[in-house]
Amino acid sequence: MDFDETPEEAAFRAECRAFLSQHGAPKAPGSTQVTMSTLAEDELAHVKECRDWQRVKADAGWAGLTWPVEFGGRGLTGLHEGIFAEEESTFDVPAGMFAQAIGMLGPTIIVHGTDEQKEQFLAPILRGEQVWCQLFSEPNAGSDLASLRTRAELDGDEWVINGQKVWTSSAHVSDWGMLLARTDWDVPKHRGISFFLLDMRTPGIEVRPLKQATGGAEFNEVFLTDVRIPKENVLGGVNNGWATAMTTLTSERAGIASSRGDGFAGVLSLARRYGRTGDPVIRQKLARLHTDYEISRFIGYRARTAASKGVPLGPEVSTMKVAISNRLAFQGDLVEELMGADGMLWGPDAIDDGYWQTMVFTGQWMARIGGGTEDVQRNIVGERVLGLPREPSNDRTTPFRDLPH
Ligand SMILES: Cc1cc2nc3c(=O)[nH]c(=O)nc-3n(C[C@H](O)[C@H](O)[C@H](O)COP(=O)(O)OP(=O)(O)OC[C@H]3O[C@@H](n4cnc5c(N)ncnc54)[C@H](O)[C@@H]3O)c2cc1C
Repeated sequence: MDFDETPEEAAFRAECRAFLSQHGAPKAPGSTQVTMSTLAEDELAHVKECRDWQRVKADAGWAGLTWPVEFGGRGLTGLHEGIFAEEESTFDVPAGMFAQAIGMLGPTIIVHGTDEQKEQFLAPILRGEQVWCQLFSEPNAGSDLASLRTRAELDGDEWVINGQKVWTSSAHVSDWGMLLARTDWDVPKHRGISFFLLDMRTPGIEVRPLKQATGGAEFNEVFLTDVRIPKENVLGGVNNGWATAMTTLTSERAGIASSRGDGFAGVLSLARRYGRTGDPVIRQKLARLHTDYEISRFIGYRARTAASKGVPLGPEVSTMKVAISNRLAFQGDLVEELMGADGMLWGPDAIDDGYWQTMVFTGQWMARIGGGTEDVQRNIVGERVLGLPREPSNDRTTPFRDLPH
């Protein structure tokens, strides 16, 4: 594991800072993130700001750093991307909305796409012209994604889609969606799925926002009724959707591994504001939280070291996710303890406009569940690191149609 940046990496970091400082002011150290507005017009304005910032980055050569040069990227490593993301998070710039398109879909099209698909999608994605959502999860297919039941049937030159998706982040502001649907019911469940590129303006798509405990509504239920998709919008081949989706999910996990979070300074400042830093029990808890942040940082270094050497990410991503989940749970309880009775307030009545209640306490489950729950990560660690036996099941050999539902 390398703790120190090479001279080349340090120079790259300086280059990132120089570019970012031309476009935004540095954030104050320990400043809390702003609580997201729940008003629709504010959200649309935010999407526009993100699109504009993405365009600026693309024009200056700072978009798609890990994408190959021939597709408009810079051909750099995940380590460089991590350095840029780290620096970007310290500047007041509207980063967001394109993690799915650039971090997940782009790499999937580069590996599995036809020349026409590369031509149609890659450049617009980098320029921020297309917001994408991920239409994978269904009411009975989340952790067990391969059990999905949305149906795709070929009719002439088009696939006709019927079914329901859920927890689709940003579907209500997306231009396109990556959709998994079942195209063959007579083979085991992983082998009958296809990956579609879906224009979200196609008739038959109904997007219903789901209101969360935080007050926001960032994700949705999506109902698909006789939605028609041209044949050429299958990505990676009919019935090969599981392999295609694995490329997408591996890219998502790489994104999770490179994010380490940097919230300790904010929690410490909250403890100071409530005059709690002299309390020995609180001091111990702050020390533990700091340690947890450091653990995530060091696991992140392992993932980045692997990335910089071109080694594919292994189960350290799952370890990282479990470490982050433990920290978020502990941190959520600690901030509530620091605020005491104030912790029951909400919105403008609360300190920092309710940031701690909304984003830190209630919001902890977003990161703990999204991208694969912590229990599922523990299963991966159990099977792939500790070598424990897989859970017994017959779903890898039995045709999907014959499985109990
Ligand atoms: C913030 C956020 C954003 C999301 N965005 C998207 C998106 O854009 N697109 C999309 O398709 N999906 C999205 N999801 C959905 C996400 O992928 C699923 O919520 C996740 O995979 C879990 O599935 P589930 O909610 O159906 O829970 P379930 O799979 O039903 O799990 C319920 C509980 O059972 C546990 N469990 C399940 N299976 C096992 C097992 N084998 N062993 C031990 N415990 C188990 C789980 O850990 C959990 O505690 C998002 C979720 C969140 C929280």
